[in-house]
Amino acid sequence: MNAINRFPFGPNGAGSVQLSVVVPFYNEREVLPLCLRRITGVLFNMGIPTEIVFVDDGSTDEGSEVLSFAAFREPDHDEPRVRVVRLSRNFGKEAAMMAGIEHAKGEAVVVLDADLQDPPELIPAMVHAWYQGADVVSMRHRQRDGETWLKRASAHAYYRILQRLSRSPMPVDTGDFRLLSRRAVQALLQLPERCRYMKGLYAWIGLPTTVITYDRAPRAAGRSTWSYGKLIGLAMEGITSFSVAPLRWVTGFGMLAAIAGGGFGLNIIGKTVLFGSDVHGYPSLIALVTFLGGVQLITVGLLGEYVGKTYIESKQRPLYLVRDILQPSGQPVEKAA
Ligand code: UDP
Ligand code: MG
Repeated sequence: MNAINRFPFGPNGAGSVQLSVVVPFYNEREVLPLCLRRITGVLFNMGIPTEIVFVDDGSTDEGSEVLSFAAFREPDHDEPRVRVVRLSRNFGKEAAMMAGIEHAKGEAVVVLDADLQDPPELIPAMVHAWYQGADVVSMRHRQRDGETWLKRASAHAYYRILQRLSRSPMPVDTGDFRLLSRRAVQALLQLPERCRYMKGLYAWIGLPTTVITYDRAPRAAGRSTWSYGKLIGLAMEGITSFSVAPLRWVTGFGMLAAIAGGGFGLNIIGKTVLFGSDVHGYPSLIALVTFLGGVQLITVGLLGEYVGKTYIESKQRPLYLVRDILQPSGQPVEKAA
């Protein structure tokens, strides 16, 4: 089947880009040359016009320079064109991905990690699924090599919780490795929120989705730039950005606590009336007061999470700022305004 006819968006003459590969990176100098070579190797054999859009998410290790050294010459017609979108600072992976997706020109866009944990060799299979009619091809990992059991276990639990919370079915065990058709990209670009939890957004779009299972490789080099702090932040973001269920849980818990407390009070009054006054239970009182105090603080924190989110959304700031875009000449061609 010919992909060209399926897409109402944009002119699609000869030579226009069919497939864009978006690679967000942050301080990945060690892997970038290898990354570029592997992706180029795969794209070269595909026989369609392709491009690679690297997004430098404010790296402090001259990653872009490494890339420019390796890549910036005018490509032969079968080779992918390479561009590097440099953001003005580190905006985080979610924003970097959006920057890449927005700058991609292809009829399909594949998002890939720079550390080669998502094997570029799978791109042809993803493109095949797209030709078969999928708008979103998500890649589900079978196992997580080279990661600690703690990270594996927490990731597992987290995906399950998320699954239960979300109204839109969310594919379990998928990362950001994904192919999006132009239609899916267009849909994604319509969602205006600042707090972008990409996995949730992909699920929300809800276009025909194909899931491909693969083995996630260990990092090719360098270290994961995610700290547990950042991961917990992202997890909170994920849950609070498309579900208010936690607010309902604490309301439910508050009701239960109120009923239990009321019952307990009635019990004490009854006992006092029938058997006379008898003061007991100082330790249990302290335990109960601290416990309820803790629950209240958690609830306030949770509420704050949602209020904070509203605040951030209300500012309507751009998701990221582009410093410049490097193209084959090796010179920055577009300076950010
Ligand atoms: N990344 C990014 N901005 C950040 C953090 C990470 O663009 O602030 C990129 C990183 O360079 C890599 C991808 O996101 O290409 C995944 O990051 P990492 O491998 O550290 O995460 P993990 O694979 O452990 O989930
Ligand atoms: Mg990684």
